[in-house]
Amino acid sequence: MPTKKETRPASDQEDLNPYHIADQQFQRAVAFLPDLDRGLIDFLKRPARTTIVEFPIQRDNGAIEMFVGYRVLHNYVRGPGKGGIRYHPKVDMDEVRALATWMTWKCAIIDVPFGGAKGGVACDTKVLSENERRRITRRFISELGELIGPHTDIPAPDMYTDALTMAWIYDTYAMMHPGRNNLPVVTGKPLDIGGSQGRREATARGCLYAVQRALARGAVPGLVKLDGASVVVQGYGNAGANAAALFAKAGARVIAVSDSQGGVLREEGLDLDAVNEQKANTRSVIKTPGCRTISNDELLALSCDVLIPAAMENQIHRGNAAQVKARLVAEAANGPVTPSADKILFDRNIPVLPDILANSGGVCVSYFEWVQNLENQQWDEDEVNRKLRVKMERATDAVIDKQAELNKKRRGTADLRTAALVLAIQRIAHVAMERGIWP
Ligand code: GLU
Repeated sequence: MPTKKETRPASDQEDLNPYHIADQQFQRAVAFLPDLDRGLIDFLKRPARTTIVEFPIQRDNGAIEMFVGYRVLHNYVRGPGKGGIRYHPKVDMDEVRALATWMTWKCAIIDVPFGGAKGGVACDTKVLSENERRRITRRFISELGELIGPHTDIPAPDMYTDALTMAWIYDTYAMMHPGRNNLPVVTGKPLDIGGSQGRREATARGCLYAVQRALARGAVPGLVKLDGASVVVQGYGNAGANAAALFAKAGARVIAVSDSQGGVLREEGLDLDAVNEQKANTRSVIKTPGCRTISNDELLALSCDVLIPAAMENQIHRGNAAQVKARLVAEAANGPVTPSADKILFDRNIPVLPDILANSGGVCVSYFEWVQNLENQQWDEDEVNRKLRVKMERATDAVIDKQAELNKKRRGTADLRTAALVLAIQRIAHVAMERGIWP
């Protein structure tokens, strides 16, 4: 996948600001809800709390460097804020606000009792040592102070943060709040520090369950099962690498995968062990023996049954959406398809299972982890996966049913993203009015 800087829309006119994109998606959904109170719409749209912290870190060579961190709590009508923390050089306020907004919709669709939040620190983990990353994490969490907590706002992993980062977050918070059960302050922790079985694979596994359900419900005419279906995965981080493995295990033929360096293609199906070995040895999947190395642009334009963008925002845009030859797109990443691309794909009859549904398995198992932590329990992996499947299938059904309901009234104008958003907005608006606006 290209870095954000290299992501160029074909047309200068396409606005790729993620917060503007989140707003466009919201406006499209709200158009289907003419009876919703205007003030309530404004309330649901705007982030409840926006925090910026700037702090110094001493690098391993002794130099002092300033870092900027963000945490946005978008909405807490349905429960405490929930959402990951990402470390990436291009993290900024608009990206974090968009990601927090998407978390609000995601939690409502998968139906876990959380609102939406997100955080990030602008930094390049590729040039930071483990000690430097630990110092950044500890300082960032201490700067956030009481803004996070087991019943107020609960972080989790996101791009370039992992279980170890979550262990540092837990430890920092626990040092600040001794003498109580602090495990539920953060999810995605290592297994021996209150992490949940199945959390690492949960985003990819949830995506698999959503795709299987959508196919069984007839989302792609003539393709009801994954058996033998060709799958292309963009991105080889936690979501992408696990998606490739799990879709292959479910009977699909994973023909191409990629990372920031480029992709590899093998029409008969990749040998994922060879790909993983190449990634471990060279830090990239490219040049895996027995495969053809291709560019990311080529990868996105491959003929396949299911295309899974699992890298980052704005990968399928106005400039390349017409080249997509997949029969179904399932967004394992957040925000990989722009609004212009949504329209192009919709007009070409290529359904897009939106991020707020397709990658909600991650936050779903985060919720399971939070429940286990509150109860001091540890569920086995079968139990986690069984419960995840139930939640993913129910959410997928609800989105597909909502699309059918909207299109009966409006004659075929709502795509799955709009249907998912309408569902989320209705659920949150209902709770908001049931609770009443305080005071
Ligand atoms: N960062 C993940 C997401 O975007 C997981 C969030 C969580 O588990 O709280 O959905």
